[in-house]
Formats: sequence, C-alpha cells, structure tokens
Amino acid sequence: MGKRVLITVPGNVTKDPIIADTILKTGVAFNIISTELTLGGGSIVGSIEADEEKTGEFIRLLKRRGVAVKELESTISFLPDKCVSCGLCVTLCKPEAISFRKDWSVEFDFNKCILCLECVRNCPVKAVRYLG
Ligand code: SF4
Ligand code: SF4
Repeated sequence: MGKRVLITVPGNVTKDPIIADTILKTGVAFNIISTELTLGGGSIVGSIEADEEKTGEFIRLLKRRGVAVKELESTISFLPDKCVSCGLCVTLCKPEAISFRKDWSVEFDFNKCILCLECVRNCPVKAVRYLG
C-alpha cells in the first residue's frame, strides 16, 4: 500500500489533466480510491505507489499546479468496545484488511485498506467510522 493522499483541485484548474501529466512526468502509479466533483472544484482520494523520493516529487509537482495535497494516515476509526464480532466486515472487506484474532476479536490492518467503506456502511453497531 502506497501513500494515501487527499488532492483538492480548485475550480479554475479542474479541466486541466493535472493528475495524468504528473503521472507521465514522474512515472509514478496513482490509484484513485474515490472522487468528488463540486461547482467549486473537486477532490480525489488516492494512493501514490512509489518510494519516498518519487512520492515527494509527485506531491511537489501537483502542488506547483495549484493543487492542495494532504497526506492521509488512517481515515477509518475502529471502536473495539462497540464491536460484537458479527464478522460482516470481515466478509465484505475484499483486500482482507479485517480479520479475526484467535479470540474472535476483530483486527484492522489499515495498510491494506483501500477505503471502499463497506465496513463503515454495513457495521450494524457503528463500530467502524469514516473520519473523512
Ligand atoms: S474500508 Fe473497505 S478496504 Fe478498508 S477496512 Fe473497510 S471494508 Fe476493508
Ligand atoms: S461489522 Fe461491526 S460489529 Fe461486526 S465484526 Fe465488523 S466491526 Fe464488529
């Protein structure tokens, strides 16, 4: 799993192929996780798949084009005290970022998480939250 970032693109530059240009210039792979377009611009959550040096170059080039880049750590919060170990999230999580421990408590590996938010949407007791 690479470095996850939130990219915010102002409205005046949303028509420019900024992400594509940056990928071509740096040779870095960028996996888009989610996008949102508004009248005032747009935002993209994605993962930069590169070493530290190339990741830094990718972020610098984006910023030079007038784009804000925020590095994301984990945007999912798990509240183990609320969890009833129903296993629904374990079943739904395609990258297997959620698993049972030997004692049937639930464990998250946020390094594998692709922010699909299935666990957040489906947990019956709201033990998983999206922090945005
Ligand atoms: S957001 Fe998706 S990928 Fe991440 S832990 Fe939840 S189900 Fe798994
Ligand atoms: S869906 Fe919610 S209650 Fe069920 S195992 Fe996952 S976190 Fe726990």
